[in-house]
Amino acid sequence: MLQGKTALVTGSTSGIGLGLAKALASQGANIVMNGFGDADGPMAEIKALGAAVSYHGADMSKPAEIEDLVRHAEATFGAVDILVNNAGIQHVARIENFPPERWDAIIAINLSSAFHASRFALPGMLSRNWGRILNVASVHGLVASAEKSAYVAAKHGLVGLTKVTALENATTGVTCNAICPGWVLTPLVQKQVDAKAAALGVSNAEATALLLGEKEPSLQFTTPEELGALAVFLCSAAGNNVRGVAWNMDGGWAAQ
Ligand code: NAD
Repeated sequence: MLQGKTALVTGSTSGIGLGLAKALASQGANIVMNGFGDADGPMAEIKALGAAVSYHGADMSKPAEIEDLVRHAEATFGAVDILVNNAGIQHVARIENFPPERWDAIIAINLSSAFHASRFALPGMLSRNWGRILNVASVHGLVASAEKSAYVAAKHGLVGLTKVTALENATTGVTCNAICPGWVLTPLVQKQVDAKAAALGVSNAEATALLLGEKEPSLQFTTPEELGALAVFLCSAAGNNVRGVAWNMDGGWAAQ
């Protein structure tokens, strides 16, 4: 379905980004990966699906490196047809204890990076009159939790940016939508499970059950594969007129 298209997925060396990259690769898209840590293993997973793959290690908090990432994708595969703004970090603390440099980093990586990547990728998409921008927001783009001020502010901002991007391009073949997962068991969430286990003196399994029970009525994690299927739908022809949506896949979290 996506043969001949190129998808740039930020933060795709791990977790949800890797899951989305695999789902798009399975549909035949070329993949440009990005993110920190080991890139060889994730690249091998994409290659095993038969997709062409390239990697660029841009730090998504740095606009000049984001421009270089988009230009690298265009030079390697000729275009960025699908942009998945996924890179993200978390920090958990009350506002009065929140390190200002952590606030700045979360806003830069979870929000501003999507603005920069979009502004660099949009001219090419518009020139071809086809494009998909998928912003990986969160259920925290729709509702809040205590001790996540920067993350909730960034994700609400990302949902707003998604709507503006959709409206500015509404008469074109370029769509923009947000994907809003509840809990997904990735390294980002495992850290929060570990912190809860340590704080309460309980096992990993008990901490996991408590984490899900607090917020997610289904008591189940959303999986990267489920999110990948949603991304594929939004990239399909059936997604042509889905514009500016924030689609939660959260086990009922935001329905409460
Ligand atoms: P993760 O920690 O597994 O992956 C994050 C990815 O972003 C990694 O590839 C990491 O290297 C990359 N990254 C971090 N900082 C970067 C930077 N400065 N420059 C480039 N890459 C950088 O986390 P995840 O859970 O897969 O999170 C992916 C996205 O999904 C994030 O935006 C997160 O907010 C969002 N999300 C996660 C959950 C969840 O429950 N895990 C829920 C809702 C939304």
